[in-house]
Amino acid sequence: MKSEITIKTVRCKGCGICVAFCPKAVLALSELGKVQVVNKEACIACGQCELRCPDYAIFVDKEAAK
Ligand code: SF4
Ligand code: SF4
Repeated sequence: MKSEITIKTVRCKGCGICVAFCPKAVLALSELGKVQVVNKEACIACGQCELRCPDYAIFVDKEAAK
């Protein structure tokens, strides 16, 4: 799927909430304690990561997924 995932790294505190709620294991925490996209093709643009992030650090472009 061609969803676009944007991560505002400076805002990410590495809490891992988005990683935990992603149903497709698209996200993971890096060694630097920031979220990163590790399996972009699996993204179903459900928006859970964006909805759950307490710091508005991750966004999903659902239009790009169509
Ligand atoms: S939109 Fe859904 S599937 Fe895609 S990265 Fe976020 S939680 Fe995972
Ligand atoms: S939920 Fe937000 S702050 Fe937490 S790891 Fe994900 S992007 Fe970073």
